[in-house]
Amino acid sequence: MSMFWHLSNRRYDSQAGDASSAARKATTSVEELENRLDRSMLACEAMWSIMRDKLGVGEEELVDRINEIDLSDGRLDGKVRKTAVSCPKCNRTISPRFPKCMYCGQPIVHDPFA
Ligand SMILES: [Zn+2]
Repeated sequence: MSMFWHLSNRRYDSQAGDASSAARKATTSVEELENRLDRSMLACEAMWSIMRDKLGVGEEELVDRINEIDLSDGRLDGKVRKTAVSCPKCNRTISPRFPKCMYCGQPIVHDPFA
């Protein structure tokens, strides 16, 4: 075998290893998201059953409220979009996904229902 062939195959082995590692990380991320979704669904179902059984809230009222919240961003699309917020310290617009301002480091207390 030539040296070129050997080096070339090592490069492909390395790329295959990188792809395999990326695939494992993606699988782990999906599994973590599925676990979080399962826990969220359990919490929603528990809250709904308490509201229905103890407060007498009907399913139509629940669906109306879901649609009202869905429409709060102007779109009835089955999604809740969090809008950008302003940093209270530097007043720059920042993503609601981050716990701190990415410009000045100010911790941001987000409204969990915003
Ligand atoms: Zn800031």
